[in-house]
Amino acid sequence: MPPFAQDLVYIASAVLFVWGLKRLGHPETARSGNGLAALGMLLAAAVTLLDRGVVSWTVLLVALVAGTLVGTLLARSIRMTAMPQLVGTFNALGGGASALLAAAELVASGPNGPSTGVGLAIALGILVGSVTVTGSVVAVGKLQGFMPSRPVTWPLQRSASALLAVTLAGTAIALALLPEVGPLAPALAAGALLLGLALVLPIGGADMPVVISLLNAYSGLAASAAGFAIGNPLLVLAGALVGAAGLILTHHMCRGMNRSLANVAFGAFGAGDGTPGPAESDAPVRRTTAEEAALLLGYASSVIIVPGYGLAAAQAQHEARKLMDVLVDRGITVNFAIHPVAGRMPGHMNVLLAEADVPYDRLLDLEDANARMPRTDVVVVVGANDVVNPSARDPESTIAGMPILEVDRAANTLVVKRSLSPGFAGIPNPLFHLESTLMLLDDAGAALSALAREVREL
Ligand code: NDP
Repeated sequence: MPPFAQDLVYIASAVLFVWGLKRLGHPETARSGNGLAALGMLLAAAVTLLDRGVVSWTVLLVALVAGTLVGTLLARSIRMTAMPQLVGTFNALGGGASALLAAAELVASGPNGPSTGVGLAIALGILVGSVTVTGSVVAVGKLQGFMPSRPVTWPLQRSASALLAVTLAGTAIALALLPEVGPLAPALAAGALLLGLALVLPIGGADMPVVISLLNAYSGLAASAAGFAIGNPLLVLAGALVGAAGLILTHHMCRGMNRSLANVAFGAFGAGDGTPGPAESDAPVRRTTAEEAALLLGYASSVIIVPGYGLAAAQAQHEARKLMDVLVDRGITVNFAIHPVAGRMPGHMNVLLAEADVPYDRLLDLEDANARMPRTDVVVVVGANDVVNPSARDPESTIAGMPILEVDRAANTLVVKRSLSPGFAGIPNPLFHLESTLMLLDDAGAALSALAREVREL
């Protein structure tokens, strides 16, 4: 293929990526945006394969078919609540691929080694790609529950991680400047794999959204570095887009979680000082029934519904909508309060409520909702836990400083969940033991249906 034709297809792919990203910005256009970006990637892959001296078509075709099969199966079978794990797995694979590509380029550069610029790109690709691999594996482990979601810390953890990071940065620079230190590349990769573990293990489960989006940015930066290493402009561009989008999302998540980017990057948050969080309270819990709670709701004048992960797990968004309808029919003001990290992915609650046609103007963001809490008669917390946990106000807590929906400031709080077990962060919730809180222990779908039925019969 003539070079100008390849460049033209690369430009077309780049346009498709940017156009696709733009369309991902709105739920109505997101699906087609995804399709456009995928088309761009298909074009880019096809042209790259046609252009390069392909090592083995058989290996490539087997990989392509296997990858397509696994990808299709995963995408079809994954539950929406497991989306962050899937994104984390993609990050790990992307970071690993970039690190391997950079390493292969180093090997291909022969005994004299690469030029300084290419050497720097190779070192960055190996460093950032390898950090992304193990960091993502730990993040997926915490999200999927095969690793403890609480912060895992050890003596001198922050100083040791900082020392390791500085040593690895020094090794990367040496690798770029001195071709004779090429044999240090495996040590750089091994150290970076260790650093990925050291950065993410100390971070508590509640902070995983920020970690996943930062690792997403890392995987993009590693791809961009690998693109520089092999001299492929489209890989540089695609990686830069992922890196920039990931950093912007991380910035938004940091704001939502009241964390600083520097803290996230160095894994120095969410870990507290290693002391355990607040113990389970001995104070009694006031349990209620749907009949009793319906009386409270049916005679309120303002109600705020706070959805959380449990609403998504129970797929109870339509029941929530029905409860809203019967309350509105009685002349009650009903709103939904959306916490930025409620559920298991950014915008999770917005997507669920949009699916149930809850009007957009009934959704309140964190600030608006908190301003209204003291004037609200009843807050119904449905399957939310960490995002309403008042221990975030306790400086000793592992979720200290995380902004919460201040449902404990409302006149009455009705919590719908199946048990008193903690949320994703794994810490007890004192909200359940407050005088003003009533617990309706049931599946979200069953409880909301019963509440709607009882209110209708009042
Ligand atoms: P939590 O995970 O804190 O709590 C969810 C609660 O839902 C649980 O306590 C559980 O209690 C209850 N629940 C589960 N299934 C059901 C059901 N079928 N019916 C009723 N209740 C149910 O959720 P939040 O939304 O409050 O907080 C989200 C957490 O996830 C935060 O810590 C956040 O940082 C983290 N996170 C968020 C991501 C994001 O991007 N949004 C990504 C990754 C992590 P029980 O078992 O007793 O029913």
